[in-house]
Amino acid sequence: MLQISKLTKQFGSQQVLKGISARFPEKQTTVIVGPSGSGKTTLLRSLDLLVRPDSGELTFDDLKLDFSQPISSKQRNKLRNKTSMVFQNWNLFPNLTILQNITSAPIHVHKVAVDQAEHQAHKLLQEVGLDEYATAYPHELSGGQQQRISICRALAVQPQYILLDEPTSALDPERENQILRMLERLSNEGNSLIMVTHNMQFAKNVADKILFLEDGELQFDGDKEAFFSAKTDRIQQFLQGVT
Ligand code: ATP
Repeated sequence: MLQISKLTKQFGSQQVLKGISARFPEKQTTVIVGPSGSGKTTLLRSLDLLVRPDSGELTFDDLKLDFSQPISSKQRNKLRNKTSMVFQNWNLFPNLTILQNITSAPIHVHKVAVDQAEHQAHKLLQEVGLDEYATAYPHELSGGQQQRISICRALAVQPQYILLDEPTSALDPERENQILRMLERLSNEGNSLIMVTHNMQFAKNVADKILFLEDGELQFDGDKEAFFSAKTDRIQQFLQGVT
């Protein structure tokens, strides 16, 4: 299981994470919510070391990172082999076809046979209704389509934890439902998901567990039912859109 303890991060003079401790249970979907600027993306990116926390600890099975000490590239790679990030701005490689975007990590990093990687990529593309774009380049796709490809790319390496930053931000309701079904399937198949979203309906549908961040502090950590029925003024205000 992935766990963090007393994680802190400062950007300039701004303390963005103020000692966050949380567990991310395996085979569950943990959703991070909170007002804009509360530190959600910073927290998510800390889990993949795209952001280097200043202090605190991260443990993942037998891997233990103490951020007050230097982190070796071996430790970083070990963590990144277990996690896969779906970026908010998609980050597809512009000079590679859609199929190559999806298969490059399985083939080059995880040493999967080309045939097998391509077979898996086509299956993922079919699931999101984009197999006909396998030989196209990212600029030929709409934003929403690129976002779905970015999800396929993260899934192709079959990570232990899938990290998603606003996975539905560029999607119309129909496409959002498609991603929702995909995430539900992943969750039902025993994948572990950690997701940042502003979309409360989406959170309600997919979450097992909710983390509510405000101003760099964790204000709620518990199951979905408890969050959506919480009686605290702050959570009520947040849920009613008064952030
Ligand atoms: P949103 O919901 O608007 O995406 P968020 O809750 O994900 O926001 P973060 O993106 O984690 O919040 O940002 C938290 C704070 O940290 C913001 O004030 C932001 O400006 C600042 N911040 C984030 N990344 C950096 C950076 N690389 N350099 C400087 N400041 C940063």
